[in-house]
Amino acid sequence: MAQKHDSIEAFPESLELTDDDSVLQIVWDDGHKSRLRLDALRAACACAVCQGHHPSQSLNLTPDQFRDIRITGLAPVGRYAYHIVWSDGHDTGIYTLKRLREMENSPEEQRNL
Ligand SMILES: [Zn+2]
Repeated sequence: MAQKHDSIEAFPESLELTDDDSVLQIVWDDGHKSRLRLDALRAACACAVCQGHHPSQSLNLTPDQFRDIRITGLAPVGRYAYHIVWSDGHDTGIYTLKRLREMENSPEEQRNL
């Protein structure tokens, strides 16, 4: 039987902080490796505090604002997302696996989020 293994089905086998704790490296169970800069990851936070409930409420975060950001807590949410706690005290961000996987594939887009 042909198995289609698209990005939505991939699951992280390991997550670790690299590059002086400035990059979150994810190894997926299909062998793909994602390297996500923490400043871009923090700026792309999709929670209601950062993005508001309407585009006009968005804080318009950019990676430049988070040059020295670090992750202080990381915990899985079910089997679909990760809850990340940041060194600036922000702790309402939920990053779905789908989003984490897609961010690496479009670095220019994440900059514009
Ligand atoms: Zn947020």
